[in-house]
Amino acid sequence: MEKKLAKFKQAVAEIFDIYAAAMMLEWDQQVNMPPGGAERRGNQIATLQGLVHSKTTSKKFGKRLEKLSKYAEELDPDSDDARLIQNVQKFYDTHAKVTPEYTAKFYKTVALAYGAWEEARAESNFAKFQPYLEEIVDLRRQYAEFFAPYEHVYDPLLDVYEPDMKTAEVQAIFNQLRPQQVELLKAIADSPQVDSSFLHLEYDEQKQWDFGVEVITKYGYDWKRGRQDKSAHPFTIGFSVNDVRITTRVDKNYIPTALFGTLHECGHALYGMGHNPAYERTPLADGASMAVHESQSRTYENLVGRSMPFWEHFYPRLQEFFPSQLGNVDLGTFYKGINYVEPSLIRVEADEATYNLHIMLRLELEIALMEGSLAVNDLPAAWNSRMEEYFDLTPPNDAQGVLQDVHWSSGYFGYFPTYALGNLISAQLWEKLSQEMPDIDDQMRRGEFANLTEWMRSNIHVHGKKYKPQELVQRVTGSKIDPAPYMRYLTTKYSEIYGL
Ligand SMILES: [Zn+2]
Repeated sequence: MEKKLAKFKQAVAEIFDIYAAAMMLEWDQQVNMPPGGAERRGNQIATLQGLVHSKTTSKKFGKRLEKLSKYAEELDPDSDDARLIQNVQKFYDTHAKVTPEYTAKFYKTVALAYGAWEEARAESNFAKFQPYLEEIVDLRRQYAEFFAPYEHVYDPLLDVYEPDMKTAEVQAIFNQLRPQQVELLKAIADSPQVDSSFLHLEYDEQKQWDFGVEVITKYGYDWKRGRQDKSAHPFTIGFSVNDVRITTRVDKNYIPTALFGTLHECGHALYGMGHNPAYERTPLADGASMAVHESQSRTYENLVGRSMPFWEHFYPRLQEFFPSQLGNVDLGTFYKGINYVEPSLIRVEADEATYNLHIMLRLELEIALMEGSLAVNDLPAAWNSRMEEYFDLTPPNDAQGVLQDVHWSSGYFGYFPTYALGNLISAQLWEKLSQEMPDIDDQMRRGEFANLTEWMRSNIHVHGKKYKPQELVQRVTGSKIDPAPYMRYLTTKYSEIYGL
C-alpha cells in the first residue's frame, strides 16, 4: 500500500502543478499582460483546466483513488494521509459529477452575463441583465442537482466555498446576529458623527505604498517568498508556500483604500505562507475555507489594523510620511476617523458595523432565488425593501442597488456568506488569542507582531485544508462559529468611539 500511496501522491502532485500553472497565467493576466493578450490567454487557461479535469477523471486515477479510499478507512482519521485522500476524493467527486456539457455551458453563459451586467450597471437598467441572471439561477439549480440528495438546494453551492457547512447552520448564525447588528447601527446613527474628512485629502501614492510595505514587513510578510504589485482589484495568490503574492490598489484621494487593502491581502498571504510544507502539491496546501481565509485578512486589517494599540505605534510614523495632511490631526481623532460608521448603499465601502448586514441581505435573496420563492423579475424590489428595513436607505437606482456586485454575473452563488462568517471567526480567534496572550495590546504598542503571527501560524495556517472550517474553529476556540464574540468586539469598540 505504501507504494500505491506514493504513486497516488505523485499523480496528485502533477494535477496540482498544472493547476498552479493555470493560476500563474491568471496572475500575469491581471498584473502584467497587455490587453491584446486576453483572447489567447483565455484559451491557454481553459486548456490547462481541461488537463486538470481529464487527469482527475481518468479511469486510472479513479481506480487508484477507490483503492486508497478503502485503505484510508483503516488509518487514523486525523492523520495527514487520511485527510489527503478524503480531500482528493472530494476534488474527484466535483469533477466527476458535474458534466463537461454543464461546465462548458456555465462558462459560456457567465462570460456573456459579465458583459451584460457591466452594461446594465452603467445604464442602471436591470432589464438588460435579467435574462442572463435567470439563466444563471437555472444553471446553479442544475449544479445543485448533481449533488442530490441534499438537505437544502443551497447546500451544494455553499459547499464549494465552505466545505461541509449547511445552509441551516448559516441561517441560524445570521438570525442570531441580525437583530443585534441592526440595534447597534441604530444606536450609532443616533449619536454625533465623528470627523473623517482628513482621509479624503491628497496623499502621495508612492508614500502610501511605502508605508504599507513597512507595516506588512513588521506583520511578518516575507519578501523572499512574496511580492506586491498593483492591480485593479486587489487579490492574493499562492503558487507554493514559498511564493505567495499580493496586489494592491492606491487611491490618491482616499488613504484607507491602499492602507487597509494592503493589510487585508497580507493577512491572506500570511495564511498561504504558513501551510505545512509537507502539503505542497496537494489540495491540503490551501485555506480551510473562504471564511477561514477571510478571518485571517480581517484580523490583520481590522482587529489589529484598526485598533488603538496598533496606531499608538504606527501613527507617529504615518505622520512623518504625511506631515501636511496629518500633522494637526491627533491620534484620537485619526483613530475615530478610520473607524467611522455610516449606513451606506455599497457593500465594498461598508464599515465593520454595517458590513454583515449587506451580506445577510444577499444571502436571503440568494436562498430565495435558489428555492424558487423569489423570481429574478422581483429581485430589485426585494433588494430595495430589505435596504430600507436594515439600513433605512432607499437606493436611488439599481446601479447602486441590486446591480452593484459582480458576483452573480460570474455565477458565484454561495460566496457572499463567507465574508460575514470570516468576520465572526476573526473575533472568535481574537478572544482566544487574547486569553492566551494577555499582553497582546502591549506587544502591538511596541510594534511587535511576531507572537501574534506565530499563534495564527500554529493554530490555523499550518493545518492548511486538513480540517473542515467548523472543525478547525472548534479545535482552536472550543466552539463552532459563534456570533457572540464579534458582537462583543463591535459593541466595546463603538461604545467608546460613539459614546453609546
Ligand atoms: Zn479577502
